[in-house]
Amino acid sequence: MSEVQAETKEFKSEVKQLLDIVIHSLYTEKEVFLRELVSNSADALEKFRHQQLLDGEVFDKDAPLEINISFDEEAHTLTITDTGVGMTKDELEKNLGTIAHSGSGTFLTELADAAQKDVNLIGQFGVGFYAAFMVADKVTVQSRSFQPDAEGYQWESTADGSYTLSACSGLHRGTKIVLELMEDAHNYASEYDIKRIITQYSNFVSFPIKIKGDEVNTVQALWSKSKSDIKDEEYNEFFKFIANASDDPLCHLHFSADAPLAIKSLVYVPKDNFEEMGFGRMEPGVSLYCQKILIEQQSKEILPEWMRFVKGVIDSEDLPLNISRQALQDSALVAKINKIITSRFLKYLAELAKKEPETYEKIWKTFGIFLKEGATSDFMHRDAIAKLLRFESSKSEPGKQISLAEYVERMAEDQKDIYYINGPNRDAIEAGPYLEAFKKGDIEVLYTMEPIDDFVFSHLGEFDDKKMVSADRADLELPEKESDESTEEGEKTEAMESAVADSLIKWMKETLGDKVKDVLASHRLVDSPAIIVNPDGMFTSSMERIMNATNQEHQISTKNMEINTSHALIKDLATMRTKDESFAASVVGQIHDNAMIQAGLLVEPRTMVDRSYAIMQRALK
Ligand code: ADP
Ligand code: MG
Repeated sequence: MSEVQAETKEFKSEVKQLLDIVIHSLYTEKEVFLRELVSNSADALEKFRHQQLLDGEVFDKDAPLEINISFDEEAHTLTITDTGVGMTKDELEKNLGTIAHSGSGTFLTELADAAQKDVNLIGQFGVGFYAAFMVADKVTVQSRSFQPDAEGYQWESTADGSYTLSACSGLHRGTKIVLELMEDAHNYASEYDIKRIITQYSNFVSFPIKIKGDEVNTVQALWSKSKSDIKDEEYNEFFKFIANASDDPLCHLHFSADAPLAIKSLVYVPKDNFEEMGFGRMEPGVSLYCQKILIEQQSKEILPEWMRFVKGVIDSEDLPLNISRQALQDSALVAKINKIITSRFLKYLAELAKKEPETYEKIWKTFGIFLKEGATSDFMHRDAIAKLLRFESSKSEPGKQISLAEYVERMAEDQKDIYYINGPNRDAIEAGPYLEAFKKGDIEVLYTMEPIDDFVFSHLGEFDDKKMVSADRADLELPEKESDESTEEGEKTEAMESAVADSLIKWMKETLGDKVKDVLASHRLVDSPAIIVNPDGMFTSSMERIMNATNQEHQISTKNMEINTSHALIKDLATMRTKDESFAASVVGQIHDNAMIQAGLLVEPRTMVDRSYAIMQRALK
């Protein structure tokens, strides 16, 4: 064969430029060369399978469709052989002498840019066939096309600006690529490294990849099979494989679309929330593939951050394999895939909540916190997420949660807003003063019992055109109810005379000084003597407590205190004020502290405890 005359040809100038960058820059991810070569082989095999279907004559009809990788540790060579479509002489020249992929112009400038700026950056680019020159001084390609009357050819280059082409007889169908490895790439002629790289990037390739005759990629790309061909068991096994998990998942969504983009995806919701269990912040769990070849593991761009609890695979053949990581971030295509999958996932959860409420309940209990994070950070999907939120309410059974839609459905006709109140737990909320007016008016109130909840509602602003209103707002306006005093139980007495009340309120305000913004007579209280309310309506008390705890800069704003002028304690206070003003002032301080505690706001414990002992002492006399 070698006696046959070899033609020497010049590479096209852009190839020279590319090779120059490939060879003279340091790579951090050199190993992607193998992914590139295997993906080319897989493409060639796929094309051959297609040719077979066309029913024409093909060369070497019975050669099994597979990729073989062999190596010689002593000679430092690595050989990749496939039985794909192969290349004719013309194709070798066209495919390996020019840059084929679309958009190669900008790709090259980007690549050159990256190479100049930061040598580490360049390793993030896939460069197709030419990636072979990252690890090899010399690359030999022998190829025999599937076309019956074609001839075998050999292409050879040391990347010195030219390549040679010569006829090569006796070849089987397909392509064999021999790499003579550079000194610092000798490790690639080892079983360990080859296996590692293949299982990382090419594990799901549909054709057998064999090393020394053993198939290394035994896991099927489940996402590209049709749903009806997959057993539950297989779904579970695949989850365990990709998520490195030992438990079965809670559920999965297997989804494919052809338009507007070709996407296949298989995503799972696991059983456990490791973040909650204290393992630190989770990494994204979904990897991005293009036709079963890995583009980016645990991609940060492919789904919104709040979806990091989801594990799985997204595959789109519309993505170029050799897209750079930088380009992934800026890619409109990736943004579109992100939007499509996120919407579809939210829709799936909504359907699940209807069809399998117990499963959804588990998801909500374990991962609801992520959905809440989404509600506060993901404007695009906010409305869809809002439908998935669940809370206990004054009309739900203890421990049972309802959706905002259920709340709205139960609203009376004259109720315009959706009400919520924060508290550490159900009992504390129900014993506190905030529910009183709602109980009286038979109005449902949602209980927000987690720190993030009030932020979620504040971000939502409204649901189904109804405003979300915290029950601790000073300007709360409840729908008018015929109040029927006679049905009120307890030792309810008449409100005090308004002149007395006005004077008491004025004095209380003076006594409390800058601890309050204002003191007012309440219209909302029934059983409690006082309540703390938020005059500015921007933040709830719960939000302020959290902001203050996480950021010392945030000062809790001064609140209004409303008092119940029908309450015996308040009425007695008016009397006591005339007899022993200093003791009455102590009681005012204590009423305020108690109301602050019920608002979930911190009070200074020492003063409060000393004062309450003093009051007790006097009561015992
Ligand atoms: P891309 O795969 O993006 O087209 P590459 O640089 O990886 O770019 O490959 C260039 C072209 O060379 C391919 O499009 C294909 O036509 C051809 N080619 C490369 N490897 C093989 C192979 N093993 N068998 C057949 N054709 C190949
Ligand atoms: Mg390629």
